[in-house]
Amino acid sequence: MSKQGQQTLEQVQHFEGKYPKQIWSLFFSEMWERFCFYGMRGMLVFFMITQLNFAEKEANLQYGATQAFVYAFTFIGGLFADKILGFRKSLFWGGTLMIVGSALLATDPHQFFFFGLAFIIIGTGFFKPNISTMVGELYRSDDNRRDAGFSLFYAGINLGAFLGGYICVAIGKGYMLASVIDEAHRWNVAFGLAAIGMLISLINFHFTKFHLGPIGLKPGHPDAIVKVKALPKWAEYAVYLATLLLIPLVQVMVSKTEYTDIFMYLIGPLTLIYLFYEMTKLNRVERNKLIAALVFILFSIIFWGIYEQSGGSLSIFAAKNLNDSMLGGLFHLDPNGVNNSGGAFFIIILAPIFGLLWIWLSKRKMEPNTIIKFGLGFIFLGLGYYVLFGTKFFAQDGIASLDIFTLALLVITVGELCLSPIGLSIMTKLSPGKLQGIMMGMWFLASAYGQYVAGLIGASMAEAREGDSLADKLITYTDSYKQLGVYSLIAGVVLIALSPLVKKLMGGVK
Ligand code: GLN
Repeated sequence: MSKQGQQTLEQVQHFEGKYPKQIWSLFFSEMWERFCFYGMRGMLVFFMITQLNFAEKEANLQYGATQAFVYAFTFIGGLFADKILGFRKSLFWGGTLMIVGSALLATDPHQFFFFGLAFIIIGTGFFKPNISTMVGELYRSDDNRRDAGFSLFYAGINLGAFLGGYICVAIGKGYMLASVIDEAHRWNVAFGLAAIGMLISLINFHFTKFHLGPIGLKPGHPDAIVKVKALPKWAEYAVYLATLLLIPLVQVMVSKTEYTDIFMYLIGPLTLIYLFYEMTKLNRVERNKLIAALVFILFSIIFWGIYEQSGGSLSIFAAKNLNDSMLGGLFHLDPNGVNNSGGAFFIIILAPIFGLLWIWLSKRKMEPNTIIKFGLGFIFLGLGYYVLFGTKFFAQDGIASLDIFTLALLVITVGELCLSPIGLSIMTKLSPGKLQGIMMGMWFLASAYGQYVAGLIGASMAEAREGDSLADKLITYTDSYKQLGVYSLIAGVVLIALSPLVKKLMGGVK
C-alpha cells in the first residue's frame, strides 16, 4: 500500500481471475457517459430537420461537423491529461461540461442548440479518451487478459449507447411515454435525460475512483505512474479557463461548417507534426510501434467514414424509407431508434461470444493477429453495406423492410467488434507510458476524420435526392451504400496484404 492507504500499481495489476475489479468502476462511468452521448447523437439530425428546419444536406454536414469536433477534441483532452490534469481530473472536468451542455439543451433546445453542443463537444474530449486509457493501465504490459478487458468495457459502452440511443430519440419523437409527457416538452425531457445519465456517470466515478491506486493521478503527484516534476497549481486552472474561453469559438465553428473544413485541414497535420516531434525522443523499437499504431489509425478513418453513416444519412433513411415492423410485424419499433441503438444491442449480445471465440482460437493457435482482425472488420462492414443495398429488394413504394435493415446492422456490428475494441487495446499496447493519452486521442481523432468524411458522403447523397419520389430516393441511397460496401471490401483486402509489414513494425506486440 502507498502512504494514502491506496493500492500500488503492482497491487492493482496483480489481480486474480479474468478481470481486475476496478474495471467495473470504469465500465459504469463509461456506460452512463455513452448513454448521454448516444442519446444526444440520435436526436441531432432528427431535431435539426424537424425542429430547426434544416435542409437534409445541411443537417448532414452539421452533424458531421459536430461529431468531427467531438472526436477531434479527444486529442486535446488526451494531451492535457498526459501533461497537466491526469486522467481522473480530465474525466471530471469533461463530465461536468457534458452535464452543463445537456442541461442547456434540456432547458431550451431551440435557443441553446449550438451553445449546448459546444459544451458537450469539449466535455467529451476530456472524458472519452482518458477513461479508455485508464482501462489499459489496469494491466501489466505483458498481460494477455487486456483484450478481454477492453471487450467488456466495449460492452459497457454499448449498453449505454443502446439505452440512451433508443430512449432519448423515442421520447423526443413521442414513441415512448407520449401519454405522460406533453408534446411541447418531449425534447426537453429527452435532452434532460442525457444530462441525468452523465450525472450518474460522475457520481459513480467519484465513489469508486479510490480503488484505482495511482492510476489517473495528476502528473507530478508523488504517487503518479510516470514520474515528472510537479506543475504549479495555476496550470490546472489555466486549462479550465482556456476550455471555457474555447466554448464560444467552438459554437461558431460547428454552426458554420466552412470553419469545420479549415479546422479539419489543420488539426490532423498539426497533430502528426507534434507526434513526429515526440517520436524523435524515442528509441527505434518504440518509434516503429508508433508507426504501426499510425497505420491502424489511418485505416480506422476509412472504417468510421463508412460506418458513421448511422448518425447522418442512415438516420434520414430510417426516418423516411423504412417501415416500423420488426420480425415480420411481431412488434413495431421506431426505425430511428433501431438505427441508433440496434448496433449497440448486437454488440452486447455478440461481445461475449467474440471474447470466447478469440480464446478458443488462441488455444488452437489460430487466433488472427490484430491486423487480420482489422481486415476482417472491413470485410464485414462491406458485407453489411451490401445488405443495406439489399433493402431495396424488400420495399414497397419506396418504404423498405426494417428487418433487412436490422440484419445489415448485425453484419456491420460483427465488423465493428473485429476493429473497435481491438483498436483501443492496441493503442495502449503500442504507446509508451508518457504518450498513452495522446495516442488514445489520435485513435479518436481518426474517428473525427471518419465522422467528417461521413458527413460529406451523407450530404452528397442528400443532394442527389432533393425533390425525388420516395422510391427514387431509396434507389439513390441504396446505390450509394453499395459503393461504400465496395470501398470497404477493398480496404480490408489491402490491410490483410499489408499485414506482414505491420507485424514487423509491431515488434512482438500481438
Ligand atoms: N462506438 C464506440 C464508442 O462510442 C466507438 C466510437 C468511435 O471510435 N468512433 O466508443
